[in-house]
Amino acid sequence: MSVQKVLELIKEKNIEFVDFRFVDLAGRAHHITLPASEVDAETFVNGVAFDGSSIAGFRGIEESDMVMMPDAETAYVDPFTAHSTLIVMSNIHTPDGVRYERDPRSIAHKAEEYLQTTGVGTAAFFAPESEFFIFDDVRYESTMNSSSFFVDSEEAAWNTNRKEEGGNLAFKVGVKGGYVPVAPVDSQQDIRSEMVRLLQESGLRVERHHHEVATAGQAEINFRFDTLTKTADNLMKYKYIVHNVARQYGKVATFMPKPLFGDNGSGMHVHQSIFNEGEPLFYEKGGYANLSQMALNYIGGILYHAPALIAITNPSTNSFKRLVPGYEAPVNLVFSKGNRSAAVRIPVAAVTPKGCRIEFRTPDSTANPYLAFAAMLMAGLDGIKRKIDPTALGYGPYDKNIYELSDEEKKEIRSVPGTLDEALDALEADYEFLTEGGVFTKEFIDNYVAFKRAEAKAVSIRVHPYEYGLYFDC
Ligand code: GLU
Ligand code: MG
Ligand code: MG
Repeated sequence: MSVQKVLELIKEKNIEFVDFRFVDLAGRAHHITLPASEVDAETFVNGVAFDGSSIAGFRGIEESDMVMMPDAETAYVDPFTAHSTLIVMSNIHTPDGVRYERDPRSIAHKAEEYLQTTGVGTAAFFAPESEFFIFDDVRYESTMNSSSFFVDSEEAAWNTNRKEEGGNLAFKVGVKGGYVPVAPVDSQQDIRSEMVRLLQESGLRVERHHHEVATAGQAEINFRFDTLTKTADNLMKYKYIVHNVARQYGKVATFMPKPLFGDNGSGMHVHQSIFNEGEPLFYEKGGYANLSQMALNYIGGILYHAPALIAITNPSTNSFKRLVPGYEAPVNLVFSKGNRSAAVRIPVAAVTPKGCRIEFRTPDSTANPYLAFAAMLMAGLDGIKRKIDPTALGYGPYDKNIYELSDEEKKEIRSVPGTLDEALDALEADYEFLTEGGVFTKEFIDNYVAFKRAEAKAVSIRVHPYEYGLYFDC
């Protein structure tokens, strides 16, 4: 939508307010609202000022003035406000009118611009599968009590879920029993359908929704792929609508990767491919999983840089509680056609040349989507540039059940980092692929690492309930 179209829409729909938004380092949206009467073509040229010093991870107090530069293309009507409001996503500029180097959305744009300069292709497409939990469903209350800290086996978790407090002994969904059962086992059909309705009304093309594997109300809604920045914008819209519909239903939705011990966590698998002038570049009939050499090199780049990449795609202490064996989350830095414990999977069912893509399974939704998609593209492009052969480096393909490999074979397989600090160490040691073409700057990475180290430290110095079980002698 052009600026002109936005201004016309404001008149046509009697829009009362325009809500300008930007995204912080952690991937959270912030907003400042102007009465529509204060918004004109100038607003899109001069921007909307805000105080950058009050946003965690942004500027210091001594240089706090920042400007939101609205992107008219992103405008959509807020489905939740009582007063009709148009939401517009913005880039962040400094007062001198240049892109702010810590603005995640500007980094996403820079990654797309960099792709154009490489000659590899004209567009990179992304499609995230962002899973989430909807909590406060009384039927599952028992899974939310603190006992989940102490559950040590799946069987015990199962029993926790089945615990009766009087009443009948009818069937209760067990751990990992949530994958696509119909109602009444799936009690969240209507809430997900309402989310989808509002997502569609807000311009997203939704492909499907379903209950996910975890027992306690885990959900997934899939929307159609698009180019890098647009997909990140779509993900912000998706989270906004998911969170707010849940609230309307008296529930809370969370994208936290591992809210419950002993059941599946929530991932954000990211499907990716590169096209040149509308022609798919990842497909070649007859190759492994019908992948082209370019796609294999892209996979090579992703897997080679994965430990560093994961500091951006899985940037929370909680992320690493999901990346453990047994819950369909990847732990092995390998690629495979089918294996869900592989970090890179190639979907092969009913895939056409245009649909041919790779799926990086480690990310979760604590990632800032602008930074995560940009970083994945940079890793993949580095793989293409350096012709990184994933097979020569021992990344597979592994189509056997990895748990059934011999100890000798298992030793060959590298794993994802075990903690946020380990991933940050890897990023400090391997960041040049991100700074190619000035997409990320060294200053940005240093600031990012410091920001995330502080989070890891804050968690590690706090006493964990499980420590009482281990150490509280009496
Ligand atoms: N919830 C799983 C994860 O943590 C993924 C399940 C699936 O394959 O959709 O990645
Ligand atoms: Mg899923
Ligand atoms: Mg998937």
